[in-house]
Amino acid sequence: MNDLYGVIGDPIAHSMSPVMHNAALEDAGLKGAYSRFQVSPAKLPDAVKGIRALGLKGINVTVPHKTSIMALLDEIDPLAASIGAVNTIVNQQGKLIGYNTDGQGFVVGLKKVIAGDLASKEVLIIGAGGAAKAIYYTLASLGVRRIDLTNRTENKAFEMMESCPFEIASHYCNLLEAEENLSRYDVVIQTTSIGMFPDIGASPLKASRVKTGAVFSDIIYNPLQTSFLKEAQHNGAVIQNGLEMFVYQGALAFERWTGITPNTELMKKVVLKQLGG
Ligand code: NAP
Repeated sequence: MNDLYGVIGDPIAHSMSPVMHNAALEDAGLKGAYSRFQVSPAKLPDAVKGIRALGLKGINVTVPHKTSIMALLDEIDPLAASIGAVNTIVNQQGKLIGYNTDGQGFVVGLKKVIAGDLASKEVLIIGAGGAAKAIYYTLASLGVRRIDLTNRTENKAFEMMESCPFEIASHYCNLLEAEENLSRYDVVIQTTSIGMFPDIGASPLKASRVKTGAVFSDIIYNPLQTSFLKEAQHNGAVIQNGLEMFVYQGALAFERWTGITPNTELMKKVVLKQLGG
């Protein structure tokens, strides 16, 4: 039997997940297909009934459903529960289990460019939205000792710090203070949507003060190099774009659905091709 997978979101037309997962399925020799499904918030309960009725084996969930879908599932993995968002659903013999692979996917990619022990690094996260929270909680769950936060809306950053279930030292600073103190950090993670296509000239803050050997990671992958990353690289940072996070969050979902580790190099290649890179 061919297994069916998909991604639900609104909008969803530009999702790169189908091309990436279909390539991975074919490469792994699995019969199956992955599609995109446009689901409005009002139709979400019906869509989940559809997943159950049609027996879809695995689903990715994207904006705006990552939180609202949780109440419609049978079980939520503890990390996803603490993050308060699900991006992956596994259909285990009719039981729908929600996971969050965004933070873990990010960390797999980050470890490829970090020298030394991640836990001992001084980290700054720019942003306090859904992706920031997944990354913050995942890093905290891995024992990273210090993660500071900066965000336009201060109370969102404080809420994120206060609800974190893992022990972590964190300090909030506004965007201007963060810009001034940027050279303190070994790892700077840009998680806001600022600089994303089509607004490619924008940047959340100036990346002019860079610690020697620091890694600057921007989770945006369209464009592949944001203004923020370009400036950081110009000032000596090791840079990473959001493609790694996208591929590894997908690979972790694929593993949960199939039990097989997919070919991430191929996944990266097909997404890059789609992006015109
Ligand atoms: P979100 O929950 O809506 O959070 C958006 C964040 O951006 C918030 O911190 C928000 O600040 C900030 N922001 C937006 N517009 C701003 C502006 N004009 N000035 C200052 N701050 C602004 O979104 P998300 O789901 O976390 O996604 C954020 C970005 O990550 C998007 O570009 C998304 O495509 C990308 N992403 C990439 C991956 C990947 O796999 N690579 C995965 C998930 C998301 P406030 O709190 O002040 O509003």
